[in-house]
Amino acid sequence: MTIFVDMDDVLACTYEKHIELYNKEYQQQLSLAQIESGEVWQNVPEPHQDSIRKHASQIGFFTDLEPKKDSQQVMEILCQKYNVYIATAATLFPNSMKEKSEWLDKYFPYITWQHRIMCGHKHILHGDLLIDDRSLNLKDFVGDTLLFDSPHNQHETEYTKVYNWLDIAERLL
Ligand SMILES: [Mg+2]
Repeated sequence: MTIFVDMDDVLACTYEKHIELYNKEYQQQLSLAQIESGEVWQNVPEPHQDSIRKHASQIGFFTDLEPKKDSQQVMEILCQKYNVYIATAATLFPNSMKEKSEWLDKYFPYITWQHRIMCGHKHILHGDLLIDDRSLNLKDFVGDTLLFDSPHNQHETEYTKVYNWLDIAERLL
């Protein structure tokens, strides 16, 4: 079985990094717990939205993201059992490619370069399962899909949802 795993907001706490940067930029106290739905930028006053939308283009944005809880342990076992590939739409932010490679070296060293796909559209991938937080990526994927929970996908009902990495472990291990 071939499994593709997204990075941002599946392996890495990207959403939280947007909040952290926003709080620093505007001296705010926004927290994940306060956000019910939507993108981070949709949860701040309009004059602040543009700066959040530019975060991912900043050098270093992807360097120090926290790994999602339990992701490192569960992925290690998944990699022993299945044919697992990282599938990240890194070409959207060209600067991110090196940062993402180094981040994987640090937190997921057992996933070697042969198993890292830095891509654009994910529907070009052929495999059995795609785990992603964006329904846009799952929509045209030919195999099975799991939607990783995020505030921005609270209203998605079309896909099987997973809420954390223990949830994934329960389904796949
Ligand atoms: Mg993602």
